[in-house]
Amino acid sequence: MKISFLGTGTSTGVPVISCTCEVCTSADPRDQRLRSSLLLENADDKIIIDCGPDFRQQMISINMDFPTGIIITHGHRDHIAGLDDIRGFNFIHRKPVEIFIPQHSLHAIQTEFPYIFNPGNYKRAPSANIHTLKGENFTVGSTTFTPLPCLHNLEEVWGYKTGNFAYITDASSISEETIDLLSGIDYLVLNALRIKPHPSHFSLEQAIDLVLRVIKPGKVWFTHISHFMGLHADASEFLPEGISLAYDGLSVELS
Ligand SMILES: [Zn+2]
Ligand SMILES: [Zn+2]
Ligand SMILES: [Zn+2]
Repeated sequence: MKISFLGTGTSTGVPVISCTCEVCTSADPRDQRLRSSLLLENADDKIIIDCGPDFRQQMISINMDFPTGIIITHGHRDHIAGLDDIRGFNFIHRKPVEIFIPQHSLHAIQTEFPYIFNPGNYKRAPSANIHTLKGENFTVGSTTFTPLPCLHNLEEVWGYKTGNFAYITDASSISEETIDLLSGIDYLVLNALRIKPHPSHFSLEQAIDLVLRVIKPGKVWFTHISHFMGLHADASEFLPEGISLAYDGLSVELS
């Protein structure tokens, strides 16, 4: 299995439009973060987690032929705004894209993209097979996932686990039940927004604490990062062994 970070930024992306801070003006490419998304490759499966406003650019950057499926974590715009752009896949391959949506996010996505669900006279509407997830394990291609329910302030967001790998973004708290589901994983991607606390996202300190004290996987990458994290190079210096900040374009072969 191989993971590639297509985006590691928070909802604004980094640089933030019109910001002149040292992160947003940094020459280090690791300080340029598209909205968070991951490519997971397993055997012949190419699975995308989340489909934000940078989706088109992300798909072009990896020369994606056709995704086996797209899995959504929750209905916030920075995770779904690119759904309109599946049309490229439809036009070239003349078939629908498989999209997996947690039940709690369905309403937001139906409201945002009613024409995906009910195209009416819109002949060139995005074409998708929508799979509504209710909490059970599900399979994309030949890869089976377990949903990891988490809270994003008061709203639900789901992470996903497959094999010894788990991906969690936009969480601000994780229940004991979900912690139990994470026991024994070797690789974890977890959100860490910035240095200071935030109501809807783990701060850097909270994320580190959760990893070291509670989850204890072998290797961890933080994602969904804001410019308030500071420079990638500076923030990385203080991370405990086994924990790194992810950056756009990072690919890792998982054993
Ligand atoms: Zn987000
Ligand atoms: Zn900035
Ligand atoms: Zn969110």
